Amino acid sequence: MAAPDVHALPPHPAPAGARVHATFRFYEELNDFLAPQRRGQSFSVPCARAATTKHMIEALGVPHTEVELILVNGESVGFDRLLADGDRVAVYPTFEAFDVTPLLRLREEPLRVSRFVADAHLGGLAHLLRMMGFDTRYDNAYADHEIERLAAAEHRIALTRDRELLKRRGITHGVYVRSLRSPAQLREVFDRLDLARAARPFTRCLHCNERLVAIDKARALPQLPPRVAASFERFSACDGCGRVFWEGSHWRRMQGLIDELLAPRRVDCAAPAREATR
Ligand SMILES: [Zn+2]
Repeated sequence: MAAPDVHALPPHPAPAGARVHATFRFYEELNDFLAPQRRGQSFSVPCARAATTKHMIEALGVPHTEVELILVNGESVGFDRLLADGDRVAVYPTFEAFDVTPLLRLREEPLRVSRFVADAHLGGLAHLLRMMGFDTRYDNAYADHEIERLAAAEHRIALTRDRELLKRRGITHGVYVRSLRSPAQLREVFDRLDLARAARPFTRCLHCNERLVAIDKARALPQLPPRVAASFERFSACDGCGRVFWEGSHWRRMQGLIDELLAPRRVDCAAPAREATR
């Protein structure tokens, strides 16, 4: 008869009042969120009684939306796993290339349609996402609680450079945007969420986020400057604000960025693609 497998037993709950210590190791870019002395190595920290993995990961500075996989003592666990004394916790970011399908992902289903709400500092990114056809709520007057409410009520992915915002309970899907300039931010969000196949450039109003519909030239004519009326044949209009759009110089300038984003990615082992967006 085989000896009982002690490793399969559930972890012993710590006696009341006892201090629980767990050892954490964060991988890849999750280290950016940690205090410098904790980056790239294992470290032991005291945990509050009944602390969950989510609670401790966020207490150490890492928004839960940045985490894709947690291993405790080598087994994949959820955000609600209670930590026990001596636990070894490995925390991984969203993977781009490494296949983790045999392991438990924290969110079984990605959000089926990629919709966004951008924080007040990401107006440029919000406009570029709309240009690529993605439903993106943005208002530079949104308070954090409003962004949280929109994310929860409308199943939107929150985009921000504020890690505290991503720790809010109502935000289940979010991206901490690292780049500072909006074209690089767009590239970063495209890579992280694999958006290229879902992009529908020039189908959404940059100003009010409504869908554009194709209209006849005759209907567009009253709003067109004479030079535009003479040079263009295809027009679309926004149901929200009534603006009329055509494939003018702005369109051509944006087309370069779009072509670059939608082109198949070059794989360059010497210089990871992520570096190009920093
Ligand atoms: Zn509009």
